Amino acid sequence: MRIAFFSTKKYDRDSFSSLVKDYGFQIDFLEAKLDHQSAILAQGHDVVCAFVNDQIDSKTLEILSKEGVKLIALRCAGYNQVDLEKAKELGIRIVRVPAYSPEAVAEHTFALILTLSRKTHKAYNRVRESNFSLEGLTGFNIFQKTVGVIGTGAIGRAFCKIALGFGCKVLAFDVMENAEMKKIGVQYCSLDELFARSQIISLHCPLTPDTHHIINKKAMEKMKDGTMLINTSRGALIDTKAVISALKHGKVGFLGIDVYEQEEDLFFQNLSEQILKDDQISRLMTFPNVLITGHQAFLTKEALHQIAFTTLENIAAFASDSELVNEVKA
Ligand code: NAD
Repeated sequence: MRIAFFSTKKYDRDSFSSLVKDYGFQIDFLEAKLDHQSAILAQGHDVVCAFVNDQIDSKTLEILSKEGVKLIALRCAGYNQVDLEKAKELGIRIVRVPAYSPEAVAEHTFALILTLSRKTHKAYNRVRESNFSLEGLTGFNIFQKTVGVIGTGAIGRAFCKIALGFGCKVLAFDVMENAEMKKIGVQYCSLDELFARSQIISLHCPLTPDTHHIINKKAMEKMKDGTMLINTSRGALIDTKAVISALKHGKVGFLGIDVYEQEEDLFFQNLSEQILKDDQISRLMTFPNVLITGHQAFLTKEALHQIAFTTLENIAAFASDSELVNEVKA
């Protein structure tokens, strides 16, 4: 199997190179992001390995199909970047890594919450300049706060357990309630009730037509003043324009995001020498109560190892014509 590996970063090369020897596949690591312009680079490969911000739309898929690609192995959980209908029409199969380390993402989510609640990002900068003043660093306890979790899949469930460990009351909304969560004390309720009662809201549902802008102007109007909103799932779950307005008016008191609606042109690159053209993220960066990380919630040693292992197992199953247990279908 020859694999064209798009959007390669050093950490991908390290984790995949150490395992691929056991499979006998050839991986060609490419720095290019996959889209209709770069798809031609897959020429001569059977498999394409892609990541969250690759654009696997109908135009890209047509080129991949023409070049003989039969499988797209996503090295991520989300698959909203793929035109599944078109892939089906062209006979290209899609596999993903459904759960590699839900704890990695859940723990990063809590890191965002604790940083915002205790202002450790500010303390870090102050102390480096020998400023030991505590003025403006008053935080708040997480203990006994009501935390609303939207989506109790693998990551949402890991997050609920951490929140319960902190002594929070945990409310949840999901299209499918989870018995294990109920047993450990998570209380399922309607989305409106979750908005009205939570002091901290964390998003863990996938991006679908149903969840696009699930946090919009109307939703935020239902929330308590000063709500902490956290998104480590997908950027477009939040209407960015509406959240900027809610931050200005104090409806949203804290915003922690690891994902951003227009992240495709920004994240995973060093743009420090360039002028940012995205006015919305530039505005978000001016708020003292907003914390942004660049889609790094998955980035732990344990998760990278599991991603490489599951991706290679998915490809091996395809190569041996076995059942594709992690296949995503339209
Ligand atoms: P999962 O499939 O295990 O769980 C998703 C949950 O969302 C399911 O329980 C599902 O029933 C629920 N859901 C679906 N539609 C819903 C709706 N309309 N309202 C409420 N709940 C709904 O997925 P997961 O592994 O927990 O991952 C969740 C998301 O996290 C992924 O889709 C991905 O976008 C994101 N993610 C982000 C990172 C990162 O590094 N920031 C890493 C991995 C995953």
